[in-house]
Amino acid sequence: MLAEIDVAIIGAGVIGLATAREISQGKKEVFVFEKNRTFGLETSSRNSEVIHAGIYYPEDSFKAKLCVEGKNLLYKLCDKYNIAYKKSGKIIVAADENEINWLKELYEQGKKNGVKDLTLLSRTELKKLEPNIEARAGLLSPSSGIFDSHSLLKFLYSQAREKGAEFVFNTEVIGVGKAGTKYEIQIKDRDGISAFVAHVVVNCAGLKSDQIAQLTGIDIVKSGYKLHYCKGEYFSLDSKYKNLISRLIYPAPEQAGHGIHWRQALDGRVLLGPSARYVEEIDYTVDKTHKQAFYDSVKKFLPLVELEDLEPESAGIRPKLQGPGENFRDFVITHEEEAGFPGLINLIGIESPGLTASLAIAKYVSGIMS
Ligand SMILES: Cc1cc2nc3c(=O)[nH]c(=O)nc-3n(C[C@H](O)[C@H](O)[C@H](O)COP(=O)(O)OP(=O)(O)OC[C@H]3O[C@@H](n4cnc5c(N)ncnc54)[C@H](O)[C@@H]3O)c2cc1C
Repeated sequence: MLAEIDVAIIGAGVIGLATAREISQGKKEVFVFEKNRTFGLETSSRNSEVIHAGIYYPEDSFKAKLCVEGKNLLYKLCDKYNIAYKKSGKIIVAADENEINWLKELYEQGKKNGVKDLTLLSRTELKKLEPNIEARAGLLSPSSGIFDSHSLLKFLYSQAREKGAEFVFNTEVIGVGKAGTKYEIQIKDRDGISAFVAHVVVNCAGLKSDQIAQLTGIDIVKSGYKLHYCKGEYFSLDSKYKNLISRLIYPAPEQAGHGIHWRQALDGRVLLGPSARYVEEIDYTVDKTHKQAFYDSVKKFLPLVELEDLEPESAGIRPKLQGPGENFRDFVITHEEEAGFPGLINLIGIESPGLTASLAIAKYVSGIMS
């Protein structure tokens, strides 16, 4: 007879960690399986660490609702547990008439999503706030900010453990088969392959979450669960640019991302990015030849930037449900009961604003689990 546990969470990124913390109450036996040597080594530590306000997404989408709720939960948690953050605010800038119209649409969209503190800025108002920025107009979002996401990951991990969750690192889930109303999970670790039974499976496998869904027998193409990888690179700027700009500065978004933005991290580093380019492989190297494209993009709103001051920094990969040229896709967060898989919860396509929304996502998962 195989050993049985209550809940198996696959993946110890921010979503798996937040979920483990939320559902571990002593009554349930919760195990988190992670193929890496520790938590948070993939997308959860390769992002902009921006607390998003919740402006861009269609109202009533998970992305809008869970971002707004998650933002409030995250600021409260950072206050309560001394996790460093800066509510710096953010300005989205418009370079021409088309982009000004688009800013107005964003303003309305943000209001519909419950982001009530947005202000449209004229060029003069923008210049007063950020004299070094050049743009025709702006949209100010005071509730956007940056935070120390690594401390959040550590905090979620230690709280989940305190509440009784068990973490199993260096262990890859390679099979999830339905066994009556339960699931037989196959794992691979240093000692080889073994199996156990779980009553509930929560798929938080990030870039591999579509593959985990496929292992269960779900047709990921028919269900629209197939992921596309979209790489985002960052370049850093010389330290002479430090404190030149006080807020996050975002241009008009690209088709697949929010556009190459300006950010001063909490440690003072000035960072540009992420770009957005669909790729086939998971490869985190930064292509130096993209420097010119970064420069051209940033020069539009920061005329004093110099090409030689940019250096390749890091990269992350978005797990996107939306393929190249396709329309908006929301997060998939679903209990697959209706598809014939009671007890299986899939989280697929948790790209931005997944970090901001993580605490709200965990609450939602806890709600649909019972
Ligand atoms: C470039 C970029 C910038 C971003 N910027 C922001 C931002 O500023 N603000 C924001 O809110 N969001 C941002 N995001 C989004 C945010 O980072 C993600 O939504 C979030 O980190 C997703 O967390 P996760 O736990 O789902 O995934 P991950 O962190 O990738 O965790 C998934 C885990 O599952 C594990 N795993 C996978 N397969 C298996 C298996 N078979 N067995 C065991 N373990 C497995 C992996 O090893 C990994 O540790 C950004 C994303 C990118 C790529």
